[in-house]
Amino acid sequence: MSSRVPTFTDDFVNGDVSFWHRSLGPAHAGPVLGGDRRADVVIVGAGYTGLWTAYYLKQARPSLDVVVLEKEFAGFGASGRNGGWLTGDLAGSHARYAKTHGVAATRALQREMYASIDEVIAVCEKEGIDADIVKGGVLNVARGSAQAARLRASVAEAARWDVEVRLMSPQERDARLRVAGAVQASWSPHCARIHPAKLVRGLTRAVRELGVEIFEHTPVDEIAPHRAVTPYGTVSADYVIRATEGFTSTIKGLRRQWLPMNSSMIVTEPLPDSFWEQVGWQGAELLGDLAHYYMYAQRTADGRIAFGGRGRPYLYGSRVDARGHTHDWTVEALWGLLVDFFPAAASSRIAHAWSGVLGVPRDWCSTAHVDQATGIGWAGGYTGHGVTTTNLAGRTLRDLILGEPTHLTELPWVGRDVRPWEPEPLRWLGVHSMYRLYRVADARERSMSRTSALARLADLITGH
Ligand SMILES: Cc1cc2nc3c(=O)[nH]c(=O)nc-3n(C[C@H](O)[C@H](O)[C@H](O)COP(=O)(O)OP(=O)(O)OC[C@H]3O[C@@H](n4cnc5c(N)ncnc54)[C@H](O)[C@@H]3O)c2cc1C
Repeated sequence: MSSRVPTFTDDFVNGDVSFWHRSLGPAHAGPVLGGDRRADVVIVGAGYTGLWTAYYLKQARPSLDVVVLEKEFAGFGASGRNGGWLTGDLAGSHARYAKTHGVAATRALQREMYASIDEVIAVCEKEGIDADIVKGGVLNVARGSAQAARLRASVAEAARWDVEVRLMSPQERDARLRVAGAVQASWSPHCARIHPAKLVRGLTRAVRELGVEIFEHTPVDEIAPHRAVTPYGTVSADYVIRATEGFTSTIKGLRRQWLPMNSSMIVTEPLPDSFWEQVGWQGAELLGDLAHYYMYAQRTADGRIAFGGRGRPYLYGSRVDARGHTHDWTVEALWGLLVDFFPAAASSRIAHAWSGVLGVPRDWCSTAHVDQATGIGWAGGYTGHGVTTTNLAGRTLRDLILGEPTHLTELPWVGRDVRPWEPEPLRWLGVHSMYRLYRVADARERSMSRTSALARLADLITGH
């Protein structure tokens, strides 16, 4: 049998939220909202954004009555499904933030991203959250000369934005991690490996211990000034914070706000020592590449590879596929790429495949905002960089709600006004042609030394 055909463990699961949740067993279920209620702040969505916001509000003002309403269970969304990159990469383009706020403010945002990694690590230590965190940095590999040209260009541009990244020598690269076909690699210390569900469950516990009530299986049907409406009652509050990221399109009136983009992952069974001896990867480094149809990976604490990438990009009408079932061709494509990177993994089996949605704004840059007149606030649109940004969002929303201007409330992502996505079928056509063009561009670049014009066209269509 060809190594490119995946094989599966006997207990293989497709969907059912994620491997991360499954590895921990069922979570303790919280109560359902039991009627109308009043609070100081009501937060819609119990992912990292909602939980960090609740956490920092209660730390700052223990007397505040903070309520969280969650449609399914805490960590059901991307926060319990992601690739576990606690990354310092900015959610959006430096140049776009700089266009409205200048270079110095954009650099300040970049530095806050780096500081947020250490903040997450510090809170986990303080609250006794063991999320398998290792700040082992991130290694991005170029496979082919077009990717290498992009890598060098991004490293050359980095200093302008206070991004700390450098090219690695081949010896240094191979001493850390040996990827088949890698011709060049970059290195940044600003990334930590995490177990996503351990973080979200630990945060849920910490937030509950601070006195925040988290109502689960309580969907919010409507967000209106000073109230969140559910089938089981309405919560009236001074502030209503929307923390629904990739699911935002399912809320009344917000279908075109952020595009729900799918990302998919597979995880192998634990790999033998002989595999790790061949590839290295002893430092829990995160691994990415420079393809347009990019990948991201981590070595898990229990010795597996969790490997993600673009799957089926987007469902017509901004629908979301809630429980993460992943199409066979996506599983096969991810497996093919994993084996391409690590031929020595070819005889291993896949233990779980799953997908999730992340929120993409029309200009691919994230936003945090609180409208003082209506009390409605939100943060999101992290375009796949939310694990760290949600922490910054939590502290920023805290300051905006408490009405205290701070260095965080001055950052360029606060209060941005972004136009909505186009109506269907344009949204579907735009995203699907972008993916198709990226695939063809990657294939063409195998024999090119620069970026394919097709990739540029794809970016132009979707504003990426
Ligand atoms: C497969 C995948 C891999 C990723 N990998 C990375 C990575 O490695 N690094 C990184 O930085 N980012 C990554 N991301 C993105 C990152 O996970 C997200 O940006 C981040 O988790 C968003 O957190 P959130 O709390 O804003 O949203 P979510 O975690 O999605 O939480 C939103 C919550 O709102 C709830 N909800 C939705 N609608 C309602 C409603 N009507 N009423 C009540 N509750 C509702 C949902 O059930 C959900 O629990 C990845 C995303 C995916 C899908």
